[in-house]
Formats: sequence, structure tokens, C-alpha cells
Amino acid sequence: MKTATRCVRPESNGDPFGAISPPIYQTATFRQESVDEFGEYDYTRSGNPTRSLVERQIADLEGGKHASAFASGMAAIAALTRLVSTGEEILCGSDLYGGTIRLLDQVVQRFGIGVKYVDTSDLDSVKNAITPQTKLLLLESPTNPLLRISDIEAIASLTRDSDVLFAVDNSMLSPCLQRPLALGADLVVHSATKFLCGHSDVTGGAVVTNDPQLHAQIAFHQNAEGAGLAPFESWLLHRGIKTLDLRVERQNNSALTIAKFLTGQRIVKNVYYPGLATHPGFEIHARQATGGGAVISFTTGDPSISKRIVESCTLFDIAVSFGSVGSVISMPCTMSHASVPAALREKLAPPSDLIRISVGIEAVEDLIANLENALENTEPLSAVAASASSRI
Ligand SMILES: *Cc1c(COP(=O)(O)O)cnc(C)c1O
Repeated sequence: MKTATRCVRPESNGDPFGAISPPIYQTATFRQESVDEFGEYDYTRSGNPTRSLVERQIADLEGGKHASAFASGMAAIAALTRLVSTGEEILCGSDLYGGTIRLLDQVVQRFGIGVKYVDTSDLDSVKNAITPQTKLLLLESPTNPLLRISDIEAIASLTRDSDVLFAVDNSMLSPCLQRPLALGADLVVHSATKFLCGHSDVTGGAVVTNDPQLHAQIAFHQNAEGAGLAPFESWLLHRGIKTLDLRVERQNNSALTIAKFLTGQRIVKNVYYPGLATHPGFEIHARQATGGGAVISFTTGDPSISKRIVESCTLFDIAVSFGSVGSVISMPCTMSHASVPAALREKLAPPSDLIRISVGIEAVEDLIANLENALENTEPLSAVAASASSRI
């Protein structure tokens, strides 16, 4: 069945009363029949039926056999890094989510694990960066916020040859638009806070894989470290996923329309959106995904102009995050990517005039009118300032 159907009609939730909305097993512990008879669940940190339900739903959508749901995307990525031991090395894309860079740089490295950044859009660089110590390669495609594209299938064949685990952070597209496991990745990681949940009311994360041994390791750490998704959050996430395909379809279509609109604006310098034929990764992206997604970045050449545009977009909330039903606008350099350590800022931080928008499900005409208004309001202001100063 198609994704849209599988989002709304996951397996039966097994409720004895036929409840269409599954019950929330809001319990920390489960009664045993006797001291030596164990049921399927004993303690919610180790497993909970509501969490299992959403885990199976996410695994199914990603085309994987197993998923583990976590309290946030970062908790999921932290669990992923537990596959790597002291003395080994993580190779990762050079344009990652700021929180991931913070985790790798300020936490993971303290435990004697090497972290190397490489431009994963360049296959030769990836090939040359792999060493006998490399255990895990983690990338995002498209990256956030610069929307760079990496060839997932080609990288999967490189990592397979060199015995490196290959994980793709698929938060930017969701399984409706891209399924990295089918392209050869060993693991998919999600910030479920973004598209999967879709309503900005849950933080969650997931790790998906087809490999039962990798799953066992991830599930072991989920239990050992206690970062599993709580029952109520699992239920909210399960509910959010029902509309995932519908939301993503609208958001993806509107984003393409807005990216084209932005491309024609005088005040806009560069538009980064992998659904545009002018994007350098367009062809690779079109091969491995069925849409450009909902996130668009663009520059104006001047951070103060960008700031004024952001602050004039009244239909877009100024907020970090993306993938929600409501459109948001941000300046990654001072917002989501402010957590990139100062020493890495120069190399890894996005341009200071970069504006990122995440397109929601509002009518695209309203969003464009709002953006147009913000762009127009900004232009005269700078022209007025120029003419005022020339008079002095
Ligand atoms: C938001 C995000 C994360 C972190 O997820 P949280 O749910 O905020 O912890 C990781 N990767 C990407 C690509 C993200 O956008």
C-alpha cells in the first residue's frame, strides 16, 4: 500500500474494545503473573505498548524492520553514537544540524572517539576520509540549512566496501519523500519533532534499521540510558503521523512554488532548494527523493536586510525547527546553529545573511503575499536610508 494509506491505517492497535484511537498505556510498571513469569512488558523504560505502536509505525514507513523511539532527535543521535567505541572514529557531513555538531564535538569526543567532518557531496573526499578506525558515517541529505545533497546510494556502496556503518538523518524530508534504507543506508535517524509529529507539540526521535543486531544494540542503550519516548508523547506522535503524507504533500508543493517566487526577487541573492533545477544537487536529489521538501534557504547579501525581512514576515513565526503545520522563518546563524562551537563556526556555520523558511500547510497564496510584502517593505527602507544619508 502507498504511504498515505499506511500513515492512517497502521496495523490494528489490538484494543479489545475496538477503540479506533489507541489507548495510552500511561503506566511505569506492569504486573507479572508470578515472580518467575514475565509478560511482554515489565517496565516502561524498557518497553511500553504505546511506544511499541509508534515504533512499528515509523519502521514501516521507513521500510525498516525495527525502530526505537527516543525523547528527542538528539537522544536518538546520541544512541547512534553508542555504536562507536573509544579509539574508533565517526565521519560526518560538514553541514549538520547544530545540535548534532555540539554533541559530536563537546560530548562524544570527550570519550576518546574521533570525529571528522567531510563534504559528503564529494565522493572522493568521503572515500579518502575513511580510515581503518572509521566506524560510523552520519550525514543529512538535504543538509540543514544549506540544502546540500549527497549521493546516498553511492556513499552506501563506499561504506559497504569498507565495513563502515552508514546512517542518514532523514528529518528534513520524512519517509514520504525519501527512504534511505532502500538506498543502502544501514540506519535512519529522525528528529520526530519535525515532520513526523508535525504540530510543534512533541519532541521525539527515532532510529530505524533492518539489522536485528544493530537494533538490539540501539534498544539496549534506549533502556540502559533511559531516553525512550514516554507513553503520552508516543501517542501524540502516532496521531501526528496519520496526517504525515497529506501534510508533506502540501508543504512540498507550496515550498516549490515559494522557491520559484523567491528566485525571481531582486533583493534575493541565492535560493537554496533541491527541488529547483538550478540547484547543484538537483539531479542526484531527483534520483533518490520524490520532492524537495518544505525547507528553503535564501540570502540577501546583508544580515541586517535579512533580519528586517524575517521580522516583517507576519505569517511566519520566528522560531527554530521546521516541518510543522505552521510556517516558520529563522536566521540559522544566530538561532538553530548558534550552538556550533566558536572554533568550528568559521568552517561549519551557515552564512550570516541566510534566511531559512519552513513552509507550513497555510494557503500558498497567503504565504507568498506575506513574503512579497516583507521583501517590498525592506527595499524602500534601505533606499530611504541611502537617500537620507546622501542629503547630509
Ligand atoms: C532538529 C534536528 C535534530 C535534533 O532533534 P531534536 O528533536 O530537536 O532533539 C537532529 N537532526 C536534524 C536534521 C534536525 O533538524
